[in-house]
Amino acid sequence: MKLILLGPPGAGKGTQAKRLEEQFGFVQLSTGDMLRAAVAAKTDIGKQAEAIMARGDLVPNEVVVGIIAERIEQPDCKEGYILDGFPRNVAQAEALDAMLASKGTELDAVVELKVDSAILLNRIETRAAETEGGPRADDNAEALKKRLDVYDEQTAPLIAYYGKTGKLKSVDGMQTMDEVTAAIVAVLGIKKSKGSVLSWLTGRG
Ligand code: AMP
Repeated sequence: MKLILLGPPGAGKGTQAKRLEEQFGFVQLSTGDMLRAAVAAKTDIGKQAEAIMARGDLVPNEVVVGIIAERIEQPDCKEGYILDGFPRNVAQAEALDAMLASKGTELDAVVELKVDSAILLNRIETRAAETEGGPRADDNAEALKKRLDVYDEQTAPLIAYYGKTGKLKSVDGMQTMDEVTAAIVAVLGIKKSKGSVLSWLTGRG
């Protein structure tokens, strides 16, 4: 299963991707996590990305496309992966399509988490307060405003882009975490699981 989770910052993409990874074994590929690791390790990419990320802008397409192209070649991606935070604009989506086509494959689905933008600031503030080791450099009001603007201008057009492919599924991201997970599993029609979906959802596994 090759899946994209789409939604604004704070929509719950990372949380849901981790849950799907735990339950189904699809690898979560978060470009944000990879870039934060590069910043922490002070690699060339990290040095290039640090200030851009802190202000809430997008890192250049060639950087993230290169990171993803390399990552999906790894053996753990063979069974499938969940792209969390990539693509972020139409150029990245086209690059991804080309990358997959060159391997004779394609995406299975794109799941859009629909959320009320008024609650996003709240969610990010909660996340900032709960993050071990202190908040992310971009979890502050100014950077968040920028990230939401960037989402509206550059990432939201992907909903129309993927809508045309017939692969787009929408899920109400305002429900509880468990309900959102269950809704994603339902729209994807996933049956095979490492454990029992029911026992996992009810916590009685
Ligand atoms: P995220 O953790 O997905 O919210 O990403 C945090 C930051 O990393 C973003 O605000 C961007 O600066 C950068 N970033 C993550 N993914 C991408 C991407 N696909 N394209 C460009 N920049 C990205």
